[in-house]
Amino acid sequence: MNEEHQKHHTAIQQLMEKAINRLDKIIWKHMTKERYLELTRSKDTDPNRLTEEEQKEWHFCKSWKGLLIHTGDPTYSECNCGFKRSKESSAQGTKEANPKADSSTKV
Ligand SMILES: [Zn+2]
Repeated sequence: MNEEHQKHHTAIQQLMEKAINRLDKIIWKHMTKERYLELTRSKDTDPNRLTEEEQKEWHFCKSWKGLLIHTGDPTYSECNCGFKRSKESSAQGTKEANPKADSSTKV
């Protein structure tokens, strides 16, 4: 009797975990879409309107399950996917190699 109860309990737990996982994915997907819309709304709904410099501030962070995050977001401090590191190292590199960061004219 106890064993049967345990089996039942485990089955319920597995179902719950599956449901939570699915919900979690939906929430993240939604948030990503929401944030993408938020991002593009300010630029006449055309993501291509973002300048190259602006685009560099955004990335789909693997540390946040692919969530689109901005370097100004609090979530950015938790970024461990390598984007932050590469951005910081490239920023240091360009500072020394190219003091006048001319990004507006050259593509
Ligand atoms: Zn990241």
